[in-house]
Amino acid sequence: MTDKYTDLTIHSAHELLKAKKLSSVELTRYYLDRIGKIDQAVRAVVTVTGDLALRQAEKADKLIAGGKDGPLTGVPVLIKDNMCIDGIRTTCSSKMLENFIPPYNATVVEKLNNAGAVIVGKANMDEFAMGSSTENSAFFTTHNPWDLSRVPGGSSGGSAAGVAACEAVYALGSDTGGSIRQPAGFCSVTGLKPTYGRVSRYGLVAFASSLDQIGPLTKDVLDSALVMNVISGQDPKDSTSVPETVPDFTKGLNGDLKGMKIGIPKEYFVEGMQPEVDAAVKEAIRKLEELGAKVEWGVSLPHTRHALAVYYIIAPSEASANLARYDGSKYGFSYQDTNNMWEGMEKTKQLGFGPEVKRRIMLGTYALSSGYYDAYYLKAQKVRTLIRREFNQAFEKYDALVTPTSPTIPFKIGEKADNPLQMYLSDICTLPVNIAGIPAISIPAGFAKNLPIGMQVIGKPFAEETIFKISYAYQQVTDWHKKTPKL
Ligand code: GLN
Repeated sequence: MTDKYTDLTIHSAHELLKAKKLSSVELTRYYLDRIGKIDQAVRAVVTVTGDLALRQAEKADKLIAGGKDGPLTGVPVLIKDNMCIDGIRTTCSSKMLENFIPPYNATVVEKLNNAGAVIVGKANMDEFAMGSSTENSAFFTTHNPWDLSRVPGGSSGGSAAGVAACEAVYALGSDTGGSIRQPAGFCSVTGLKPTYGRVSRYGLVAFASSLDQIGPLTKDVLDSALVMNVISGQDPKDSTSVPETVPDFTKGLNGDLKGMKIGIPKEYFVEGMQPEVDAAVKEAIRKLEELGAKVEWGVSLPHTRHALAVYYIIAPSEASANLARYDGSKYGFSYQDTNNMWEGMEKTKQLGFGPEVKRRIMLGTYALSSGYYDAYYLKAQKVRTLIRREFNQAFEKYDALVTPTSPTIPFKIGEKADNPLQMYLSDICTLPVNIAGIPAISIPAGFAKNLPIGMQVIGKPFAEETIFKISYAYQQVTDWHKKTPKL
């Protein structure tokens, strides 16, 4: 397969398009062709949107010709299959929504459209974004492009693998407990979870509404900033989006970290972490020091150890409420082979949802039931406040915190599929960030046994600029992010 354009980023593609060295239609055809050949092995894409992409590419070429383009104009993107695109199947990788065609666009899709983006496909994911390996997709498992026998991470595994395998220049994912950052780490791409409320969730199929956030998966930090410039901002259609001004996220990217204070929380170098991950991330932190940052080791965030428990009460509770709508009477899969309404609803859920989704609904329903609400849900909300407070205190002293993204390198397909608890532990370093609603990025920070390792940079609320600045500086002196897998 030709790898003519596999090193393209959004900014380098934009230059080619602007200089008329290439048209968006040509670029789009190249990517559609590449998906056609490579995706048989990677399986990142649930639906290829070829017609839509070519229509958008023609429009983009006109915008460029008329000088009305922006950085994203004409550049191919994959959208995680839990964001609605008008007239295009949005499945959430679930049988429940296998044939669901939304009649409207998610706000992020609308914003990409206005920027002249070219959508080449919908990316595979864990069903309803529940999982850490993309093995919970009801359709097929996505493979890690660095080693096809391994998982790409999840739940935005299709988005991450698709970008790593150059099936698109960038992708959108969603992150409820790590679903952008963990697969970004596993596939060696750059993945940002913005501050809760920074990006509109309108048109994102809800998993856990107080934790979900949409963000970009890109080849580098500059690209991530360019996407954020387009998708951020308050949206009247999402009352939890925040009226915070949207800065130009590319502004502070200058490679200089002098005066920056970075804390290294010891609880994130957890027991059971693979020594290669520990070593690579510590090495990367020393690089930040060389760039002028003042690094303080051994910072303590003691409530971190409760984050997993808190998450697995709050996320399933919200999921159980959000998923109640799939009863076969409104839209989505509906079991018809009965005259009994109750049996119809029961069978719809039984056949429409996969095992992990059912597990979450049961956990959530239990935690919210009247006898247990105080003991579980309410208690979890209180500990959530403590975790948030602890981060706030740390940010009085530090501009950012740096941790590994995940305790392990990508594991084998099937390795953790029968052990939900082991699977849940994949997100131990990313979950606390969603609980606190703060932003964090995962960037490539090395390899062990030819498999990627990610480093996470966590920032204050709405301080995406700071974490971009730090991770951009790191990418100026390293080239992990420039490596591409051989396929
Ligand atoms: N792996 C976590 C879960 O299964 C996080 C998923 C996500 O961020 N969407 O809940």
